Amino acid sequence: MSGADGLRVAVIGGGPGGARCALRLAEGGCAVSLFEPRSHFEKACGGGIPARGIERYPYLLDGRLPGKEIRDCLLVSPSGREARFPLADPLFVFSRADLHTFMLDRAVAAGARWVRARVQSFHRQGSGREPRTEAHPDDSRGRWWVRTLAPRDPAAHASEAQGDTHGPFDFLVAADGAAGSARRKLLGGESRENVSQGIGYYLPQISEDFITLKFYAGLHGYLWVFPRPDHSSAGICATLGALPASDLRRLMDRFLCARYPEGILRRSEGYAALIPGALTDGRGARVQGNGWAIVGDAGRFVDPLTREGIYYAMESADLLADALLRRKPELYSESWARRFAPDLSRAAAHAGRFFDAPFVERLVLLGSRSPAIARVLSDLIAGRQPYRTLRRRLLLAAPLVGVHLVTGALSRRLGSPARGSRSSDR
Ligand SMILES: Cc1cc2nc3c(=O)[nH]c(=O)nc-3n(C[C@H](O)[C@H](O)[C@H](O)COP(=O)(O)OP(=O)(O)OC[C@H]3O[C@@H](n4cnc5c(N)ncnc54)[C@H](O)[C@@H]3O)c2cc1C
Repeated sequence: MSGADGLRVAVIGGGPGGARCALRLAEGGCAVSLFEPRSHFEKACGGGIPARGIERYPYLLDGRLPGKEIRDCLLVSPSGREARFPLADPLFVFSRADLHTFMLDRAVAAGARWVRARVQSFHRQGSGREPRTEAHPDDSRGRWWVRTLAPRDPAAHASEAQGDTHGPFDFLVAADGAAGSARRKLLGGESRENVSQGIGYYLPQISEDFITLKFYAGLHGYLWVFPRPDHSSAGICATLGALPASDLRRLMDRFLCARYPEGILRRSEGYAALIPGALTDGRGARVQGNGWAIVGDAGRFVDPLTREGIYYAMESADLLADALLRRKPELYSESWARRFAPDLSRAAAHAGRFFDAPFVERLVLLGSRSPAIARVLSDLIAGRQPYRTLRRRLLLAAPLVGVHLVTGALSRRLGSPARGSRSSDR
């Protein structure tokens, strides 16, 4: 029994954020309706979950969820210099379709009612049993009603097969991801700050035993190849609007064609998606109101440098569930602002410097030569290296990199790469 027993909650979206939230709330005694139209859904994503995420959510290593454990990383600098080093903690890579089904199943097993339909709209009605007038989203006297579209999923249960109005609900959780509209509806306008575009391919039959991260001069982003059990997810991300999508695709095609068998791209399925990034002022960004809250991508809880979001979606879901189960929903924003917002805001504020080509050049060179730097990079990938102490740690591991971070100037003079191994592709 918890203080939230019987609380009626609507969760819109069954990705990692929504499914995790539904699971926790159902376990805590809430009556949860989880609205998600898709049962098996290969979301555009690398699917990489660092060690920190696996430690926090060990059930992801449940034998029923196939994943690939990666223990090596190849970095490729803008000039083509390479550094390959072991990952002290493995990165786990999953197919998002498998992860999606796995997490939904767990939420249902915990007692959440899965409504296999897309939410068309939601609103809050004024007090009274049969709602008449639409109330402001923050009017806590009203109850939530959710309108769904008829599902396209042929597996949908007959009783849920028509569009319908569901409710009333005491609390509404918006977990409909980067492309969802719930955030706009709850908060009004939307800023494009720190939004990235990600485009990529699923490469059939390619599954190496290392991840590749390739950097480009002038690109606030990177290219990745993440091997999964029977294919790889390859993609490139950059700040939205910085480069036309066609240019990004050209960069990626050139890299992949130089590296993999001829015709690989003809056999690969492509994808494109937006990636929201945490805001520079993450503490101040609003993610909840009276009777509602936002989790995951919809709340822009994504690392603006690595673009890692699965872990943050699940963590934000947990923080919200903790607060709701204590019947103190207002604690949610506070906990997020305390635990995660400062580091992600810091990353957002320093993204430019992090992707500065001379700096990356230097880092890759040292990563190939200095075990101490390789260890810092490994910890960064594992999610164990906060941005707050990154500069200090780099400075201690290799003073030249640290000096660059402080001044931003030295590296420009060291810009033309001298030594180190080079890849064939530029
Ligand atoms: C190209 C790319 C690569 C990425 N690589 C990584 C990576 O390697 N590692 C990592 O950690 N993160 C990565 N991310 C980020 C990660 O994908 C997201 O942060 C994560 O999926 C967020 O989870 P979520 O539950 O908030 O949203 P989502 O996973 O987007 O889930 C939202 C859900 O809401 C549902 N939905 C949407 N609208 C409605 C509606 N109207 N009604 C009902 N349901 C609705 C959707 O069907 C979906 O299932 C990547 C993102 C992109 C775009």
